Amino acid sequence: MQIVVFSTQRYDRELLTAANAEHGHALVFEEAPLSLSTASLAAGVPAVCIFVNDHADAATLAKLAAGGTRLVALRCTGFNNVDLDAAARLGIRVVRVTDYSPYSVAEHAVALLLALDRKVHRAYNRTRDGNFALDGLMGFDLHGRSVAVLGTGKIGRVFARIMAGFGCELLGYDAYPNAEFEALGGRYAGLDEIIDRADVISLHCPLTPETRRIINADTLARMKRGALVINTSRGGLLDTEAAIGALKSGQLGGLGIDVYEQEAGVFFRDLSSSIIADDVLQRLVAFPNVIVTGHQGFFTREAIGTICATTLASASAFERGEPLVNELHAG
Ligand code: NAD
Repeated sequence: MQIVVFSTQRYDRELLTAANAEHGHALVFEEAPLSLSTASLAAGVPAVCIFVNDHADAATLAKLAAGGTRLVALRCTGFNNVDLDAAARLGIRVVRVTDYSPYSVAEHAVALLLALDRKVHRAYNRTRDGNFALDGLMGFDLHGRSVAVLGTGKIGRVFARIMAGFGCELLGYDAYPNAEFEALGGRYAGLDEIIDRADVISLHCPLTPETRRIINADTLARMKRGALVINTSRGGLLDTEAAIGALKSGQLGGLGIDVYEQEAGVFFRDLSSSIIADDVLQRLVAFPNVIVTGHQGFFTREAIGTICATTLASASAFERGEPLVNELHAG
């Protein structure tokens, strides 16, 4: 089956091509993201494969459907960028990769937390410049601290397990609490309580209308002064401008983000020779207590291997008319 793969990088092309050896699909790689203006690249093609910053809104899906596309395969977990109601109306089926190494993202969240707390990014720069002074590098023990996990699904629970290993108190908030988090020693509480108590807040819930800007000016104001926020889920969970205000006042002690609300068009690209027009992002990276990574949480060998294999297996199942185990449904 022909599949147009949008938003591809070199590693996507290499790894999808290798995984495709056992499927034999005709993969057409496009660097451009899917949008209303690029949907025509898939005209006459039954399947498209998209990533986190492609826009599969109603108009784009309608254009894809008019061109004969019947399958949208997300090579990621989050699906906030796809209008599932529109897809259902248009007869387009949508699949994603539900299960690939939750360790990849959870471990990246821990990496951000440790680097931020112990100022590893600053020490790295200092020692390369012959500066071995410690002033400004003091962190706090994670042992005994309260860690709030917002979204205790697959990734949130792996993160919680690691933090339990550090000797942290685990506070959970989830629309659907689960026993596995409690078995780790976690305790569920209301959002206000966990925000009030936590020394570290790590975001692992999906971006939905209910969770959009779940960390906002109000929540930032009620946090313990100096608490750290880690976001490896979706940029829209955090009100970035409010976070900048809280960083400036010292209320927010540090911010580690792998995702950013306006990341489309910036992340996954080398803009080191360009002028970046996004003043909010530029302000963020200028703080000594902010670490920004460019949506690399998923970027481990194990995770990418599973993403490629699962995506192509879904396409093969669709082509053969078999059940789609990773299908997303509207509603
Ligand atoms: P999951 O579905 O296993 O877990 C999500 C959890 O959030 C569930 O327990 C769910 O009940 C909870 N939730 C849903 N709505 C909620 C609400 N309104 N309030 C509180 N909790 C709510 O998903 P996962 O595999 O753990 O992935 C979590 C998120 O991580 C994804 O949605 C995606 O946005 C993000 N992600 C990021 C990367 C990256 O590279 N940085 C990679 C993969 C996934």
